[in-house]
Amino acid sequence: MLAKPKKKPSRTALKAKCDILASRYYRALTPFCELEGRDSIVCGGSLQWCHIIGRANLRLRYEPFNNLVLCAGHHRWYGLHPVDWVRILEREFPERLYLAEFHRHEIVKIDFQVWIARFSS
Ligand SMILES: [Zn+2]
Repeated sequence: MLAKPKKKPSRTALKAKCDILASRYYRALTPFCELEGRDSIVCGGSLQWCHIIGRANLRLRYEPFNNLVLCAGHHRWYGLHPVDWVRILEREFPERLYLAEFHRHEIVKIDFQVWIARFSS
């Protein structure tokens, strides 16, 4: 019997795998809430992989400058308050906000394998 040919993983499957690795990678790199003590919001809950510009933007989805690690409390609060989100980024992380804004409209075909290799190292 012939071996079954290996099916190439779909882009959806690669994206899902990449997301898991990216989340793990960034939370290991920064094992604390990056907004703790920088505002009046009470920190709390598990650490989450967060985005300056939402992850629907594939160009920015895995970029280090577009990422923050936040506790669930901060993530939820700023998710509900987008104006405050931009204001605190301007105050606390202006370089990351600048880079995210600068690159946000670039059209690229994202190579998930490149990011997977990077997050696996
Ligand atoms: Zn927090």
